[in-house]
Parts: sequence; C-alpha cells; structure tokens
Amino acid sequence: MKIARIALDVPLPRLFDYACPPELDVATGSRVIVPFGKRRLVGVVVEMSDQSEVDAGRIKPVECVLADAPPLPPDWLDLMRFLSGYYQRPLGETVIAALPPRIRSLKPLPRADRTLWRATPGADPLKLRAGRRRRLLETLIARGPLDEDALLDADAAARSAERTALRALAAAGAIETTQAVSGTGFEPGHALTETQGVALARILRDGTGFGTFLLHGVTGSGKTEIYFHLVADALARGRQALVLVPEIGLTPQLEARFRGAFPDTVVSVLHSGLEETARTSGWLRAASGEAGLVLGTRLAVLAPLPRLGLVIVDEEHDSSFKQQEGLRYSGRDAAVFRARQADAPVVLGTATPSLESYANALAGRYALVELPERASPGAQLPVVRALDLRNEPAEHGLAATLVNAIEARLARGEQSLVFINRRGYAPVLACGACGWTAGCTRCSARLVFHATDRRLRCHHCGLEAPLPRACPSCGNVDLSPMGRGTQRVEEALAGRFPAARLVRIDRDTARRKSLSDTLEEIRSGGADILVGTQLIAKGHDFPKLTLVGVLNADSALVSTDYRAGERLFATLMQVAGRAGRRETRGEVLIQTRYPGHPLYAALARHDYAGFAKTQLAEREAAGFPPFLFEAALRAESRELAEAMAFLRAAAQLVEAPDGVRVYDPVPHVIVRRANMERAQLLVQSAARPPLQGFLRAWSEALFEYAPLHARNVRWHLDVDPIEFD
Ligand code: ADP
Ligand code: ZN
Ligand code: ZN
Repeated sequence: MKIARIALDVPLPRLFDYACPPELDVATGSRVIVPFGKRRLVGVVVEMSDQSEVDAGRIKPVECVLADAPPLPPDWLDLMRFLSGYYQRPLGETVIAALPPRIRSLKPLPRADRTLWRATPGADPLKLRAGRRRRLLETLIARGPLDEDALLDADAAARSAERTALRALAAAGAIETTQAVSGTGFEPGHALTETQGVALARILRDGTGFGTFLLHGVTGSGKTEIYFHLVADALARGRQALVLVPEIGLTPQLEARFRGAFPDTVVSVLHSGLEETARTSGWLRAASGEAGLVLGTRLAVLAPLPRLGLVIVDEEHDSSFKQQEGLRYSGRDAAVFRARQADAPVVLGTATPSLESYANALAGRYALVELPERASPGAQLPVVRALDLRNEPAEHGLAATLVNAIEARLARGEQSLVFINRRGYAPVLACGACGWTAGCTRCSARLVFHATDRRLRCHHCGLEAPLPRACPSCGNVDLSPMGRGTQRVEEALAGRFPAARLVRIDRDTARRKSLSDTLEEIRSGGADILVGTQLIAKGHDFPKLTLVGVLNADSALVSTDYRAGERLFATLMQVAGRAGRRETRGEVLIQTRYPGHPLYAALARHDYAGFAKTQLAEREAAGFPPFLFEAALRAESRELAEAMAFLRAAAQLVEAPDGVRVYDPVPHVIVRRANMERAQLLVQSAARPPLQGFLRAWSEALFEYAPLHARNVRWHLDVDPIEFD
C-alpha cells in the first residue's frame, strides 16, 4: 500500500499517514483533502512511503487531490526541509506556516483573473469630488494598469465599496479594462552613472550562476536603479526575479517604481498585510511561474518560484528580515539558500551592511561591490555634526542650534526632519511627591503617556488605561510626564514655530493608507517640519528635505545589548540619508552628551567601513557573533521559577559536544510581558556543524520532555537570535 505522509494545519509536531487509493494520483507535493477526526482538512504530501508505523486498520485514505494550484515542487520541499532542520521546527509545521492561509483551507482558490484596470487617456481626477473615486483614478494614473488585488484596499469592507466606485468610474468612461500581457519591456529611470555601471557590470560579469554579492552603496547611491537592470537581465533570460524588502506595505512608492520600470511584466506583491484573496492570487502567480517579478517582505522567500533566476534583498541589514515567532527564520539567509538552489545570483543591498554580511565579504565569501557616491547629479552626502548638550542647554528638549537651523530652513522653504525613536508623549508618568510611576499591570515595564487622547499605553503588550486623576499611591494631583516622545516634540515645535506646517509620523499616526498619503503630501512640499520615528527613516526620498535633527540617540550607546551600536549606526545613517538628496547639501545635527563618541565620529566621516571594522574587532575579542554561532532556548510561564526550572532541566537533557557551550538560564531584562514571565539560556559554538548536531538532538529531546514535565511552560528555540528584550 502506498502511504502519503502529510503536513496538516493542526498543533501537533508531526506528519500524518494516509493511504493512497490507486485511482488517485497522489505524489510528493500534492495538495490533498483528508479526513481528520470529524473534520476534513487540506494538507500537503511531504513524503511518500511504502509503510507506516500506524496500524493498517487505522489508516484512512486520502479523499481527493486538489488541482486548482500547481503541486508544490521538489526544490520547494527541499527548502522546507532545510528550514525545518536548521531552525528546529517540525517539518509539517514549517510547510503549513509557509503557505498562505487560503492555500491550506477548504475554501476554493480565486480564479486566475488577468483583467487589469487602467485610466482612459485624458481622464482627469480633478473633475471628481475628493474621495474614493478620485483616489482610485489617481492611483491608476500613477501606477496602472493594475489588477484589483493590487489596486484595492486590504480591508474587505473597503474593498467592496471600492469595487462599486470602480464600476461607477467605468460607467463614466474614466477607466477601462485591459488584459494583462507578459512582456519583458524595461524602462530604466536614468542612464546609469559610471560608478553604477561598473557595479552592475561587476555583478553581471560573474554570469548567471550562484554567487552572493554585497552591494554596499551609500544612501542615494542609486541601488534601486541597479536592481532594475538586474531584474531586466533576469526577465530577458526568461527567469523570475525575487525582490525582498523590509516593509513593502509602508513603501508603495517602491512598488510603483518597479511597476513603472517593468510596465508589461506580471508583478506579484506578497506581504502579510494583504487581504486574503490578494495574497492568494499573488502567491498563485508566483507559484505558477506567471509572475516575472515577485516583490515582497520576508515571507515572499517562502513562495514556490519555478523559474527563479535572481534574488535581491534590499536593506539586508534590517532586523525585520528575521521572523520573531513560529518558524524563526532569517529571510536573508533563506534568500541565499534559494539562490544557491536555483543556481542564481543573490544581491544583498544596503548602506550599512549587517556585520554578519560584512564579515562574509571581508572573508571573501561574498563579493563586495561598492557605490561610494550619491547618484543624482550634484548630490553630496550630508554634513553630520554632534551638538554637545553639556554645553548647550536644550529648551523643551531642543538645542538652540537645532532650532535656529530649522528656522533657517523655514525661511528658505526647505523641509526639516526631527527624528526621535519613541512614540507617544512621554515614556514615564511620575508623581513628584512620592516617586510613584505608572506601570503596566501585565508587564515589568512603564506605561507611555499619550497626550493626543490622554491615555496610558503599554508598548510591550498593548494594555491601555485612562490617565489617573491623582497619584494612586499618595493622592497628589500633580503628576508629571518625564522624558519625551514624538507627540511632545511635536508640541514643542508647534509652540516655537506656530506658522509651520507640522507632520508627525509614527505608528500611532500611520495606518497603511494614510501613511502613503502623508508621504506623498510631504514629497509634494505640503509640510515644513516632520517629526517621526524610524518609520520615516526607511528609504523615503523627500526632495526638499535638507535638515535632520536627531534627539535621544544616546541611550543606545550605554545599552547592554552588544548589537545596539550596530543598530544605532544603521538607523542614524538611514535618517541622515534623508537629508539633501538633490543639489542642496543636507545637514544632520545630533543632540548628545557624548559628542566625541567614536560612533558619532564615524558617522560624521560617513565611514561605515571604519565603524564596522572596530565593531568586528570588539566582537571577536569578546566572543560574539559573527565570530561564533548562537541559539537561544526561551521559556515563559506565569511564574518565573517555573520557566527557570524548565530551562535548568532542559540544559541537562542532552550532553553538549566539545566546542558547544551551554550557558546558565537568565531572566529577560523585561521579565514579565502580558502576564508571562520570561527567561532564556544561550548556546554558543565556534562552528556551525557541532551546534547544529547538538540542536537536532536537543530539540528532539525537548519535544518529548516538555509535554510531560513542563505543561505550564511555553518554549521555543531561536537559531541565530537577534533580539534579547
Ligand atoms: P538608494 O536606493 O541607493 O538609496 P535610489 O535608487 O533611491 O538610491 O536613488 C537615489 C536618487 O538618485 C533617486 O532620486 C534616483 O532617481 C536618483 N538616481 C539614481 N540613479 C541615477 C542616475 N544614474 N542618474 C541620476 N539620478 C539617479
Ligand atoms: Zn504620589
Ligand atoms: Zn504591558
């Protein structure tokens, strides 16, 4: 009897055996429907076997094979096996987690619809009243032709209203449909500069086979333009290009640039913010090979891509490429694996390489390709200066030099950006009489005061509370906010520059749609001063922005996390990169109590290489990655003692081989989050193979031990962990 071993969407860490009736064509990679208890489930056949450990009498047959999507190909299953083995998650769970929910549900899949909407020539949005129809028409003029998945909102209710608006626009003759054709037409934005040309030639010279390139280009050096040429090359070869970005939902402008450069290519956009049908059709277009360009966040690396011929990871240093739950994979590392599988080049682009990638480049494992200058004619890197807060007092947190610099920009009609990486009004609400501070009842953390709606919020678990009228501990009615966040900085700037148009951008102001509108407004000059968190730092291009002020950066300099410096440098390079991207040279002013700090000095010299080499030397001396490899076992429970006891027992389960060191468990810095107390233990090794061998045996033992002896503990392994909060 033929047995299919099937991954199912159920919380059990194993595959399930089913019999294959001879009349069904069941094979590895088939999507099938099987009976499970009283339910029917969709699963994926991961392996075929001649025997089963389950009693023949208890094995149920596969009910049917689904044919509405291509079967999952062998190289995709290899990728799943690799991820499952490397990150120590059960294969079935890995397979299920990699598929969009709809693909593993009984709901029928959307039919491949090749209808696109486009604006009819001459259609004028200004003739429409402001609103849904006008917005849709504007989008189609800027980005069209688009299919409905790409055009419509992620929210189901908004979608149906938008469909009605589309029908009205079509009836009025403002838009029309057209059928998608797939071509490889390419419309480059600019003729490449000499430096860009050399970099491109360097990457193309190595041919079409596997090779990893670290494209280190300063902000504004025109990396995107190089990506376009690489994608064009892959399309011309008849292959698919996969482009991974940290947060595509926040950067519709990037999507628009790609669609503009490849007007007749089928583009599939994949990220978790998409509405279900849109995500499913995007995935189907990638998996069928129909999409020439697949543009998405880390999860796009998990889509089947039968014609893959190029992989690009933009902002490769960004920590959002690492998944922080379930299968804790690195999208960047998975991208390199896929490129090797497909025998295709992979390009990791960034202005501030991760130290892992930079070390790989220095060691010759990655080819280093550099773009040291800005591409736009006359554009120079900004002047970076530290403002010494020890000598220069700050009023409302703003140094006089910064205030004067903003004033000068206002006078010239230029834009300024004030960057502070903390949202809300003040991170602490305190009682001056007794020292009480507002804390979260579910976390060992303080509540952040939000002034706009006068509420307290926990940034760790989301808890909200009204502002207390008086100190709950002593009754004092005079509670004071301490420290500052974006709202308070906005208030101070509004007080100082009452006539200026202020725009605040952080997670509180930015729902997806409105953020892209806000960004467009800034680009077209509809704002004078921007206040924002790192949401505003990533990748945006504001032509009139010539000044960046940085507040409160110092805390990272004194952090106990050895990665804090690397992250701060990357963030500041990014924000600094927003300034002076055209002819007018930009200026960056950093408020600090450590003006002589080597990190700021390197930043002022735009010296990534110098900074990275110092950091690498420190990491090597201290024994940190990338000079050794790490995994963390994390545990959480209602009681810290339980989590700690579990970790201590776990450490005894399997003896670590030579060269693998298992540390003692330690509580997290913020030990309680959402009423769970957390601890972890770290495992280190100078080489991967012994670590991987140990993790395999350990993980197997943990999956056996935990359900019997640690029922109240939630635990997971994190391989190559990056966050320790
Ligand atoms: P990066 O991604 O490296 O930060 P971008 O690709 O966004 O840089 O390019 C920065 C700016 O330079 C953009 O406004 C882009 O249009 C412009 N640019 C890029 N390449 C060229 C070129 N060859 N000639 C003129 N302008 C260019
Ligand atoms: Zn008090
Ligand atoms: Zn909380």
